[in-house]
Amino acid sequence: MIAEPLHVMEQPGWQAALRNAVTRVGDLLELLGLSAAQVPVSARSDADFRLRVPRGFVARMRRGDPHDPLLRQVLPATAEQFRTPGDALDPVGDLAAASGPALLRKYAGRALLVATGACAIHCRYCFRRHFPYAAHSLTNDNRASILAALAAATDVTEIILSGGDPLLLSDVRLAALVADLERVPHLRRLRIHTRVPVVLPERVDAALLAWLGRTRLRPVVVLHANHAQEIDASVDAALARLRDLGVPLLNQAVLLRGVNDSVDALVQLSETLFESGVLPYYLHALDPVRGAAHFAVGDDIARALATAVRARLPGYLVPTLVREIAGHDFKLPL
Ligand SMILES: *Cc1c(COP(=O)(O)O)cnc(C)c1O
Ligand code: SF4
Repeated sequence: MIAEPLHVMEQPGWQAALRNAVTRVGDLLELLGLSAAQVPVSARSDADFRLRVPRGFVARMRRGDPHDPLLRQVLPATAEQFRTPGDALDPVGDLAAASGPALLRKYAGRALLVATGACAIHCRYCFRRHFPYAAHSLTNDNRASILAALAAATDVTEIILSGGDPLLLSDVRLAALVADLERVPHLRRLRIHTRVPVVLPERVDAALLAWLGRTRLRPVVVLHANHAQEIDASVDAALARLRDLGVPLLNQAVLLRGVNDSVDALVQLSETLFESGVLPYYLHALDPVRGAAHFAVGDDIARALATAVRARLPGYLVPTLVREIAGHDFKLPL
């Protein structure tokens, strides 16, 4: 008998796709048929927060278009080096809300666990792009103390897995984590904040569906897509697999200049999401994180866009436009 080839024993397919992500600006531009002279790209910005984008996401970009809305979200731009008054490394007061190493408590009834600092894609506007993940994420060493803190917080009924992207943890680790969370009697809901089904849809595989499908906690998945072009057939299929489990799917987007700051882009995003069974949840005003000011949309324009979207769509397809103000009891409608 011929021995099974070794690769059969290797990691799941999504981990290979993750390792194969584009991390060099030159490679990205070559794939898109662009030259460095056509885009405002900066080596300094890339060194501060490395380019990372899965090839499947690159395939949804328009070749030869330096203004592509997906490209703009990942390209390390020269403008990231600019400082603006009021920009911050921790724009939403995450560290002040940290109770213990990786658990953030801001809002009644909910606790947010920074499950990992890793992401499948590096979004240039990310409000946690400067977050000190090394000291503030789940590890084998702090896991027991995090669970003890949760067990003591009897008012918390919903645990939010966030990061980073929690779905970059292996299914073995996630299944064990969820099993631990299930033993906290007052927890009722498991919310997962993830961009992975959009940017690395192959991650939604049988192993993931297995632990998600059998938890006693009520699951809800909050996705992150900013533009209709992000949702292709592969994403739709991944979302269908989650829907088949009966998991409610919501989306949060960030209002980004040059990406989705038009009525048409926002309307198309909501309609495309709904075709994949996803309801729009939040449209976030950009957090003033250092290095992302070139994505900011003024409040007056943001409100005008939200009003115009409301005039075009059924109410259930209109996300709530919010801004997070550190120290406030909820994310504030604009
Ligand atoms: C955003 C956030 C939540 C969730 O807020 P919702 O309004 O329920 O979506 C919970 N905890 C923290 C720390 C947050 O930043
Ligand atoms: S996936 Fe989310 S956490 Fe990761 S870089 Fe993008 S916005 Fe930030």
